[in-house]
Amino acid sequence: MRSKIVAGNWKMNKNRTETEALLAELSAKLPDTNAEVMVAPPYVNLGEAVRYLDDSIIAVIAQNMHFAESGAYTGEISADMLLDIGVDTAIIGHSERRAYFGETDAILAKKVAFALEKNIRTMFCFGEELEDRKSGNHFNVVADQLKNALFSLDASAWKNIVLAYEPVWAIGTGETASPEQAQEMHAFIRKTITDRYDANVAGNVSILYGGSVKPGNANEIFSKPDVDGGLIGGASLVADDFIAIIKAI
Ligand code: PEP
Repeated sequence: MRSKIVAGNWKMNKNRTETEALLAELSAKLPDTNAEVMVAPPYVNLGEAVRYLDDSIIAVIAQNMHFAESGAYTGEISADMLLDIGVDTAIIGHSERRAYFGETDAILAKKVAFALEKNIRTMFCFGEELEDRKSGNHFNVVADQLKNALFSLDASAWKNIVLAYEPVWAIGTGETASPEQAQEMHAFIRKTITDRYDANVAGNVSILYGGSVKPGNANEIFSKPDVDGGLIGGASLVADDFIAIIKAI
């Protein structure tokens, strides 16, 4: 079901003490909201965060997960391990995983399929590089990313998918897609899903925008009809900024 979502991707930031401090501040300042609010601390602090947010509406999600059940995958974390500590949502395909850890569309397709098989809600990230946008190829790139990782799935699997369109040129750069650019791409994404599945699947999937969302631009971006919320990096590390973004939704 399509819902409004604000999710904070903490990346490799915040030790245990800092995690508790940020969660305490978020909990104290959290406004009343109909939106789903999520935070993705680093793996080592996920369990701690789940315990801390036991009674909270803030959900704890993972930044990544592996596609295998278990076994010889040094440094990786399995779906069952996440479920075991109470985490049932994972970000998959973040552009930093693609760029620095060689995660290809083929690998991501395996991760998504396995996550869904395990009933892990998947927040699938994708988006074009700057050269793609400059050359006018951004729609093709985005359509291919969707097709390669998601379009083999049955329509029924989509109830557990959230999309996060994140143009790589806007991530951590201070550069944001304009609200119009975001809306144009989100509408294109919905149309691409309609063409492959149907309007029901496309209309029910939440599509978040990610890329330098800040308190100062969140309102305008979130006001666009096909933008259902945001995946927030840098600004999610500062409680007042993240809270302001939640208020904007
Ligand atoms: C992200 O990493 O998903 C992201 C959107 O980062 P930032 O908000 O810092 O651009």
